[in-house]
Amino acid sequence: MYDENNIFAKIIRGEISCDKVYEDENCLFFYDINPAAKIHVLGVPKTPCIDYVDFVSKNETSIVSDFFKKTNLVIEKLGIKDDGYRLVSNSGKHGEQEVPHFHIHILGGEQLNQKKI
Ligand code: AMP
Repeated sequence: MYDENNIFAKIIRGEISCDKVYEDENCLFFYDINPAAKIHVLGVPKTPCIDYVDFVSKNETSIVSDFFKKTNLVIEKLGIKDDGYRLVSNSGKHGEQEVPHFHIHILGGEQLNQKKI
C-alpha cells in the first residue's frame, strides 16, 4: 500500500523543498540531500508508485517511456553522458529502499570506485 506521506510524496506536492534539476507535469529530478557521489540526483515520477515494478506495471507505456526519456534529458543536462554515470533503483527490504516512492539514483561526476548504493 502506497504511503501518501512518504518524503518524496511531500516533495512532489511542494510541502518540502528540494534542489530541482528538472520538473514537468509527470516527473521531478532533484539533488540527493546526502550525496554518494559528486553528482547525485534522484528522479521520481509524480504518479504514486512504490518501486520500479509498481511503476511499470501500473502505468501506460507512454508514461513509463516518458520517465526514462526525461532521465536521458537530465543525464545530458548534468553533463555526465560522455564520462559515464550509474543508475540505481533500490526496492524493498533486500534492496534497502529507504523511501517508498519509486526513484532512480543518477550518480556521476567522478570515478565511482565503490558501489555504495
Ligand atoms: P533509497 O535508499 O534508494 O530509498 O534512497 C533514498 C534517498 O533519498 C537517499 O539517498 C537519501 O539521501 C535521499 N533523501 C532522503 N530525504 C531527502 C530529501 N528531503 N531531499 C533529497 N534527498 C533525500
